[in-house]
Amino acid sequence: MAITDFVASLQDNPYFGAGFGLVGVGAGVAFLRKASQVGMILFRRHYMMTLEVPCRDKSYQWLLQWITLNARNTQHLSVETSFQQHETGKINTAFDFVPSVGTHFFKYKNTWIRVERNREQHTLDLHMGVPWETVTLTAIGRNKNLYFYILDEARKLALKKQEGKTIMYTAVGSEWRQFGHPRKRRPLTSVILDNGISERIYSDVNEFIKGPQWYTERGIPYRRGYLLYGPPGCGKSSFITALAGELEYSICVLNLSERGLSDDRLNHLMSVAPQQSLILLEDIDAAFVSREDNAKLKVAYEGLNRVTFSGLLNMLDGVASAEARILFMTTNYLERLDPALIRPGRVDMKEYIGYASGRQLKHMYQRFYPEQPEEKAEEFVQAVQKHGKEVSMALVQGYFMFYKNDPYGVIENTNLMWKL
Ligand code: ADP
Repeated sequence: MAITDFVASLQDNPYFGAGFGLVGVGAGVAFLRKASQVGMILFRRHYMMTLEVPCRDKSYQWLLQWITLNARNTQHLSVETSFQQHETGKINTAFDFVPSVGTHFFKYKNTWIRVERNREQHTLDLHMGVPWETVTLTAIGRNKNLYFYILDEARKLALKKQEGKTIMYTAVGSEWRQFGHPRKRRPLTSVILDNGISERIYSDVNEFIKGPQWYTERGIPYRRGYLLYGPPGCGKSSFITALAGELEYSICVLNLSERGLSDDRLNHLMSVAPQQSLILLEDIDAAFVSREDNAKLKVAYEGLNRVTFSGLLNMLDGVASAEARILFMTTNYLERLDPALIRPGRVDMKEYIGYASGRQLKHMYQRFYPEQPEEKAEEFVQAVQKHGKEVSMALVQGYFMFYKNDPYGVIENTNLMWKL
């Protein structure tokens, strides 16, 4: 029998025929699957654009905010809460909504864009101690400008939010992270300090900023330290915030008593502080007061780092930052500070911000009731001073709030001020 006859007879056989059919269908399906995969890869390569933005990139937060605004139909949001507790117990919080982890779609310039926010379960961003994240945008087409537009819009949106505002940073891990939304600038004149203090500090900082050459020519590190001391509620923090606004600087607030803040981290933070920012160490005395209780602390936080006093001095003397460094420290108790901390070179200017003087009281009255004649302001000052008690500007401000529209009542009831 010829070989062709043999094949034909096999095909005639119903069992063999079915087998061939199945194999044929299987091979066909496999081929189609492979072809579609290759097709998809080629399509992706040639007709789709992806953009991956990792969480360490500067654009990352801008982009998330922009997507939240543009992908309005997204119902899956996650919240990012910024929380800060000061030594004094004051707590600040702010909420931010951003697209949740997962896939979202939105349309931009007539193109559908897929957004995928991924969080790695097993990879940590070592600097921040948070899971590694990326956002990937995918769009059909070859117009890469689309991504430039998006990033540019996202940046503009973020910067617009900051226009005329003061940005506050806090330290997270070994990085500075923006804290909450940028705040409206507070005019320097709204913080009423005693004679000439405000002008003195302002002109000193200004001179410092304008004169880097003076420092380099003399080989002196380009940095300046300020210490504001005095009772609470007299305007130390408000003044520094207003000053930053006036200079168009941001503020980096650092809490030295924060657990886990080691000397190394402190030094690192100083060297990576955002440009054009004031560094603020609040309640500097509180960080080392607890040193007497060190034994107790050691038990409680065994293994957790804390800034040492010599670490702080090193940081103050350090040349870590190449940029101009302006550092403000505040304390309610000057006498508790180690003299080594406030010697010249570490602290170049010390100013006492004290209880309200007659001049400050008068000024405050005039700001609240600008339509009143000067005599009324003076009457108010006398009414306060006859009690012979100290009063902080915070207290005066709180008291005025009860008499928003009553410039006379505020003079008559001064005895109530200390009862608030
Ligand atoms: P400190 O830092 O000295 O404890 P803050 O700056 O936090 O004081 O002041 C607390 C509140 O009191 C702020 O709301 C601020 O507006 C008000 N305040 C304090 N001092 C002044 C001042 N000198 N002029 C205007 N407002 C003041």
